[in-house]
Amino acid sequence: MSKGRSSEADRYCYLQTELARLEHAYYVLDQPLVPDAEYDRLYRELLDLEQNHPDWITADSLSQRVGGTPLKVFNEVKHAVPMLSLNNAFEESELVSFDRRCREGLGLETVEYACELKFDGLAISLRYEGGVLIQAATRGDGASGEDVTANIRTIHSIPLRLTGKKIPDVLEVRGEVFMHRKDFERMNKHAATLGEKEFANPRNAAAGSLRQLDSKITAKRPLSFFAYGLGALEPANWLPKSHSQLLDLYLELGLPVCHERRVVSSVEGLQQFYQEIGAKRNQLPYEIDGVVYKVNLFKQQNTLGFVSRAPRFAIAHKYPAQEEITTVLDINVQVGRTGAITPVARLSPVIVGGVTVTNATLHNEDEVRRKDVRVGDTVVVRRAGDVIPEVVSVVLDRRPKNAKPFEIPSQCPICDSHIERLVDEAVARCSGGLFCAAQRKQALLHFAHRRAMDIEGLGDKIVDQLVDLNLVRTPADLYRLGFSALANLERMGDKSADNLIQSITQSKSTSLPRFIFGLGIRHVGESTAKDLAKHFGNMHALMDAQLDDLLTVNDVGPVVANSIISFMSESHNREVIEQLLASGIEFQVEERIAGVDLSGKTFVLTGTLPTMSRDQAKALLEAAGAKVAGSVSQKTSYVVAGTDAGSKLEKATELGISVLDEDALMKLLGR
Ligand code: NAD
Repeated sequence: MSKGRSSEADRYCYLQTELARLEHAYYVLDQPLVPDAEYDRLYRELLDLEQNHPDWITADSLSQRVGGTPLKVFNEVKHAVPMLSLNNAFEESELVSFDRRCREGLGLETVEYACELKFDGLAISLRYEGGVLIQAATRGDGASGEDVTANIRTIHSIPLRLTGKKIPDVLEVRGEVFMHRKDFERMNKHAATLGEKEFANPRNAAAGSLRQLDSKITAKRPLSFFAYGLGALEPANWLPKSHSQLLDLYLELGLPVCHERRVVSSVEGLQQFYQEIGAKRNQLPYEIDGVVYKVNLFKQQNTLGFVSRAPRFAIAHKYPAQEEITTVLDINVQVGRTGAITPVARLSPVIVGGVTVTNATLHNEDEVRRKDVRVGDTVVVRRAGDVIPEVVSVVLDRRPKNAKPFEIPSQCPICDSHIERLVDEAVARCSGGLFCAAQRKQALLHFAHRRAMDIEGLGDKIVDQLVDLNLVRTPADLYRLGFSALANLERMGDKSADNLIQSITQSKSTSLPRFIFGLGIRHVGESTAKDLAKHFGNMHALMDAQLDDLLTVNDVGPVVANSIISFMSESHNREVIEQLLASGIEFQVEERIAGVDLSGKTFVLTGTLPTMSRDQAKALLEAAGAKVAGSVSQKTSYVVAGTDAGSKLEKATELGISVLDEDALMKLLGR
């Protein structure tokens, strides 16, 4: 490096040190300090500086190395064939250059690529001799890794002995050890109940679990494996012509290979694979951070060869990061329908998973305490698919000196009522009930919900105004609203006011279960509301019900029964119900399907049915007297399954429960 140090040179030195620190935490300790996106940014910056100053590059630059130093506690394994990393493409232009480089390097018009997923786990090399697994090693620094044979033997999907007719004398299978999302969540939950350390993500959980000194611990960890590559091989002529054929052969040998793969021969083909996999990324049972494209023919791979730390014939095409870092500007609490207090971090805007995020939930008081998120903190924010963004962790070494721990306020920020937390509940609640405007708003939205009174057009913007202007305090007030009050609201024209009045009027013709559900009694969901309506037949009988009587209702236990009694003993609630009834609400008897009686039978619906929604199927079943439940158990009579049915279908098969498709269901309903 030149003598007169520029700020660029200082930055370069800083990046080398900082990246080395981050890599140690990630590769050696399995405890990342920052999200991958932040590491990737710094790493790119290092590469850019090196591109402008090639004379700065030394053999020990991080850009020339793979992974982290292997831990000395494991025996060292020298890799017969180095285990390299992959170059990354984030933009389409990088993909186009990759294809161009491959075509030019090979002097061809088109090149065939094998596309596969980029699993987010850790790379492993499995050495089979005479078809028997004799050694397993981590990637380590690429030249040598850690001997984790005993631990690898505990992973059920890795065969200890290969099957098939054509087994090579020596075969080093390269692949990824990873953890399914569900297994990861289960494992972390279990760790939390035992007060043990939780892992930041499935990748680190997989790495931490595999690099255990005690293989009994690894055996308890739910690890999985997919094969995707090759190390040493004898005899060499065992090798098929292409990478895709190699993976087919792996399947014949009994090795797990992911079925999400495809061979294409154009940039458009690569893009299409990227888009298709991207669309289902969050539905995959394991995490991926991109897809990988490899020149398919081995002969062509050899011609293209390698750069220092990665092959020239392959590239990883990354998806937008689902974890990012940003700073916490403030922490407030939100008040829900039942007064539940949810702490929310207000964030400096950041793009996560392709969307700008400004708020992230902190769930509840225990979560805030466990994660110790403070105003001013730099935090890792995660947003995957449609899931609400959440704060995953705090980057502790970036905490400002005088940051104070966050305390849930003792008073509701909306109505000033006392905030209380019952002994066996995780959430704190505002005790203000319907006196609290926030709870009132949520209660009104619930009352108007499609599955309750179904008042179309009564959304949160309108409810906010109605409550803030004191035009509506209770659901009964909705039926007293006049045209002019509505038409004067912001963003409300005469036409919309008319429509809303009409849907409020229409909602008067409802059913008893919808009405009971709409009242928003704690623990009384849609299905309990139906059972209560069936048992009591009218509203006054339910209002005066005694504990003993309530306990005889299907699925009503002491918690639900007491919640109903407490709601009904509140004179304010009784008044609102009387006012609602007086406003002309009428309960239509829900139509029963003639000639079909499925009472006593419980159905579970799963997947997408070809011609009707699950709500429609549910309504039909209930009209025939059946009960529709949310989960499969011994008590389930039938499971109705459509496409993409998941674990419920698996469970039904496991328990030997009859499975119906839409046609069979319609037959049963006599249609
Ligand atoms: P990489 O993970 O980007 O790519 C190489 C690895 O991909 C291989 O070693 C293999 O394990 C894996 N892989 C998954 N599916 C594959 C497939 N189908 N074919 C071939 N390989 C496949 O590179 P890397 O060198 O392991 O590390 C860089 C990654 O680690 C980056 O994503 C980086 O963000 C992350 N990292 C993060 C931190 C941090 O502090 N958060 C620190 C260091 C590295």
